[in-house]
Amino acid sequence: MGGFAKERGRMVERHLKARDISDPKVLAAMGKVRREVFIPEQFRINAYADRPLPIGEGQTISQPYIVALMTQALELKGGETVLEIGAGSGYAAAILGKIADQVFTIERHQPLADLARKTLKAEGIKNVTVICGDGTKGLEKEAPFDAIVATAAGPKVPETLKKQLKISGRLVVPVGGAGYFQRLIKITRTAEDKFEQADLGGVSFVPLIGEEGY
Ligand code: SAM
Repeated sequence: MGGFAKERGRMVERHLKARDISDPKVLAAMGKVRREVFIPEQFRINAYADRPLPIGEGQTISQPYIVALMTQALELKGGETVLEIGAGSGYAAAILGKIADQVFTIERHQPLADLARKTLKAEGIKNVTVICGDGTKGLEKEAPFDAIVATAAGPKVPETLKKQLKISGRLVVPVGGAGYFQRLIKITRTAEDKFEQADLGGVSFVPLIGEEGY
């Protein structure tokens, strides 16, 4: 697995810094986590191309730029508790874990959850907990969260996730109709019953399957 450090540095420069990723914590995390170990062996050669790659169960690891964009939108300063819906390979959770204090990540496919847990352990990442289940219901027993991110797209913003945010907490979630084109929505809980919404642009994600998804 030699030679990837250089490619990772190049990915940070070309695909992140050269675009609109400027948060030093996000850039540092993206420069540290080894994306290649979260990818099936046959695709590792493309680990630092800025594109999603298959991880099994018909799912994908998101492209590095999108992982950075979503992480940056969460406005993490360090010390937070974060929930991710859609652990997939565990890569984005590892990035979150480099910045936040504690990360919980939920994955509906047991084989992916098991592999993500194994990879995170092998990488020595101890502050990320992988749970198998339906993430649209959030994780009540660990709520409220400083930040929540969903890496699969639902028909609407799940109400349960909004309610598991702290006041001033941020939720980033792709929302869209059928097909693979959605809007990336950011919700900020400004008061107990007040939420602000921003549209961060067009994205393309696999579907969020669950009680408050498809
Ligand atoms: N964050 C992942 C990574 O770094 O590899 C990318 C994940 S992929 C784009 C989205 C994942 O969301 C898939 O693994 C899919 O099985 C999962 N998913 C879809 N609906 C879900 C749900 N309701 N609860 C938990 N996981 C879900």
